[in-house]
Amino acid sequence: MGLLPIELTYLAASILFILGLKGLSHPETARRGMIFAEIGMFLAIVGTLLHREIVSYEWIIAGLIIGSLIGGAISIWVPMTAMPQRTALSHAFGALAASLVGVSEYYRHSAVELGTFKMTALSLEVLLGGITVTGSLMAFIKLQDWVRGTPITYRGQNIFNMSLLAITVGMFGYLIFDPSAHSLFYAMAGLAFVFGVLLVLPIGAADMPVVMSLMNSYAGLAAAATGFAISNNVLIIAGTLDGFSGFILSILMCRAMNRSITNVLFGAFGAEVAAAEGGSAGVMREVKGEDIAVQLAYAGQVIFVPGYGMATAQAQHSVRELANMLEARGVTVKYAIHPVAGRMPGHMNVLLAEANVPYSSLYDLEQINAEFPTTDVAVVIGANDVVNPDARDNPKSPIAGMPILEADKARSVVVLKRGKGKGFAGIENPLFFKPNCGMLYGDAKTSLIKLAGAVQNA
Ligand code: NAP
Repeated sequence: MGLLPIELTYLAASILFILGLKGLSHPETARRGMIFAEIGMFLAIVGTLLHREIVSYEWIIAGLIIGSLIGGAISIWVPMTAMPQRTALSHAFGALAASLVGVSEYYRHSAVELGTFKMTALSLEVLLGGITVTGSLMAFIKLQDWVRGTPITYRGQNIFNMSLLAITVGMFGYLIFDPSAHSLFYAMAGLAFVFGVLLVLPIGAADMPVVMSLMNSYAGLAAAATGFAISNNVLIIAGTLDGFSGFILSILMCRAMNRSITNVLFGAFGAEVAAAEGGSAGVMREVKGEDIAVQLAYAGQVIFVPGYGMATAQAQHSVRELANMLEARGVTVKYAIHPVAGRMPGHMNVLLAEANVPYSSLYDLEQINAEFPTTDVAVVIGANDVVNPDARDNPKSPIAGMPILEADKARSVVVLKRGKGKGFAGIENPLFFKPNCGMLYGDAKTSLIKLAGAVQNA
């Protein structure tokens, strides 16, 4: 097949990727965006398979079958709450593919054939790919609780890591000018793999989503570098889109937590917060399901504030059922969505969409905060940090400045959680001690089912 049809297929694929990303920017268009991106990826694969340089279709077909089987199995058996781990593994595999292409291209070509430009692309591909492979695997291991999720730190860690990175980047620089330094190339690849592990070691499990979106960015840039190395336009475009969207997402997540990327990467967040917190005195008031049910049943407006606990309890369907019941009684029900509630971007949106909660009932921070003071009951479902008033009121709090959902301003607040467990930041939440706040202990799903039963009898 001639080159023009292949390039046109790549162009169509690239346009579909861009439309896909655009669609993903809003929950209502996200499904359509995914379909665009899937068709784009299909076209990119078809275009590549028609390429004149294909050596063996048999190996490609074998890879396609194995990959599809693994992908299919993952999509069926991995639960929604394990999505961060799944994503971490995907990044590791993608980056491994990019690194292997880089190594094989280096192995196949002489230093003269490679030249400065191709060598730069190859080295960048292997460098970023290597960091991403082990960094993502470390993220997976931490999220899966195979090693402790808290930051693993030691003295001089940042200096050691930075020195190692400087040496690796130095090797990268040298190779551009002397591609024939074979052992240096493989040493650089090895150090990149080691650096990936060391980079993620001091980062707490709950910061992994930011790390993964950074890894996503690195994997994308590695893919773009692969595109330059093997002169493949669709890889350049898709890799760049992936690289920059991942980077922008990391920045947005950090902003929503009022943290900087450097603080996430080098701050070992979660290790020293216990010492830094001010603490909160008082007693948490336990309330009975029946009393809350009466409040809910006769309320004018109820706002549900879902958080990580709703995800672990898989309570989204029960929330919807309770909401339906309240709406049938004439209560206005709204859902307040914090941008970093849960453990991955859009976590709450995805879960609530799964339970068919209409998008029009979801309100983000800026829209809903003004409504809390006129709301009868705010029901906090397994959320903690995103409703912690200390972020607003206590400048010494480790999460000071993080925008919060001001549930504490509602006339009455009910918090559904299992016990006195802390949130991701590991700090006390003064909301739980406020006179207008009651605690309903138990797994969120069980509590919601009980509440729904009690509302029916109210
Ligand atoms: P959170 O602060 O982590 O608190 C979750 C609460 O849920 C815990 O206090 C826990 O208390 C409760 N819980 C756990 N399992 C439960 C269950 N089965 N039933 C009922 N309650 C349960 O969650 P959040 O308020 O959603 O805040 C998210 C945090 O993650 C933020 O600090 C954010 O910065 C961070 N983060 C988010 C992202 C993201 O992309 N979304 C990325 C990085 C970091 P008990 O143990 O007492 O039940």
